[in-house]
Amino acid sequence: MSATLVSNLGWYPSSWRGHPARQMPHYADDGAVQAVEARLDASAPVVRIEDAARLRDLMADLAGGRGFLLQGGDCAESFDDPVAEQVAGIVSLFDAMTDRIGPNMAGPLVEIARIAGQFAKPRSVQDETHDGVTLPAYRGDIVNGIDFDAEARQPEPLRMIRAHMQSVGTAASLAAARGPGAPIFTSHEALLLPYEEPLTRRDSAGRWWATSGHMLWLGDRTRQLDSAHVEYLRGIENVVGVKCGPTLAPGELAELMDRLDPLGRPGKLVLIGRFGAKRIGDVLPPLLEATRGRPVVWTIDPMHGNTSMTGKRKVRRLPDILAEVDAFFAIARDQGVHPGGVHLEMSALDVTECIGGRGPASIDELEKNWLTACDPRLNRAQAIDLAAHVAALLA
Ligand code: PEP
Ligand code: MN
Repeated sequence: MSATLVSNLGWYPSSWRGHPARQMPHYADDGAVQAVEARLDASAPVVRIEDAARLRDLMADLAGGRGFLLQGGDCAESFDDPVAEQVAGIVSLFDAMTDRIGPNMAGPLVEIARIAGQFAKPRSVQDETHDGVTLPAYRGDIVNGIDFDAEARQPEPLRMIRAHMQSVGTAASLAAARGPGAPIFTSHEALLLPYEEPLTRRDSAGRWWATSGHMLWLGDRTRQLDSAHVEYLRGIENVVGVKCGPTLAPGELAELMDRLDPLGRPGKLVLIGRFGAKRIGDVLPPLLEATRGRPVVWTIDPMHGNTSMTGKRKVRRLPDILAEVDAFFAIARDQGVHPGGVHLEMSALDVTECIGGRGPASIDELEKNWLTACDPRLNRAQAIDLAAHVAALLA
């Protein structure tokens, strides 16, 4: 086969092992990790390849300048989540949001939840210290436990099995919830590669797909060109997201796109900007310039760039979140780029995690119903109001 027809030359599901892997846990017992990988290798896929392929087709439309992607859900899922309730909640939230957005737009409204596999978290700080005791940071339920004790914080490979089982159940409930209606696809950050590798499966044409979710994304902390994460993601056929933070240079983005999608397939890449309301004006225009002529989908994550630390809590404010969404639409349109979607951290519950709008009025109210295992999420009312705001921008 000629090199021009092959997008992943020299790639294999395990080829990431030859690259520097950042943000990965250090397991005490390699044999236990290998035993888990073997079990995952023999386990059921979380999603069907044909559905992941269907999402690729839908995304090609968006790359052509029509339609909109609504992506959202928890920052981190938890083993304590009541699955049936969680799925019912997210479906009803997507229903309410698409009711707002749908009538104001043309083309497909694609819905993707952060669910059924969003268990692994990258951390900016590797350790956590309380009252003079230092322990490894919590890295998501698929890696270690959130409780601040030495045993819980030890990375435990069997957690991958539990995450897989919960993901299979969650994905099945989600698929059943909409019946013959438009599907809600699943997505998560492709961070824990010993989990992803054994769930990477071949279709009848010999192409490799991640079956841990329909769409996987590359996090802002693991997007170095030589990284194990880029290596893994360049080989799969799924729609791949790329978180684009304020330190991403336009040249680096061009190289990343060449690496992840050398064939330039429409809708294969979803670029997810997350700059912060204050920086988007400086950072986004040259990045849009770097993608000119490429059939990518640009979306905005207005959550992660608008986060500050106050005391023990991460603080996010709705006015900053809305300001980044507004700036994204304005800048994209100014440059003739289709504003293709939003990527949100949101809960179907009445949580008090983001300040503003129909949520807590100040930092003092954050404790009332703070439930997230990681970053603060919009509550149901805030998410619906944001959807109405987006609908007005699309009209
Ligand atoms: C996330 O989406 O939860 C996340 C960690 O994002 P980022 O990689 O953009 O910081
Ligand atoms: Mn997050």
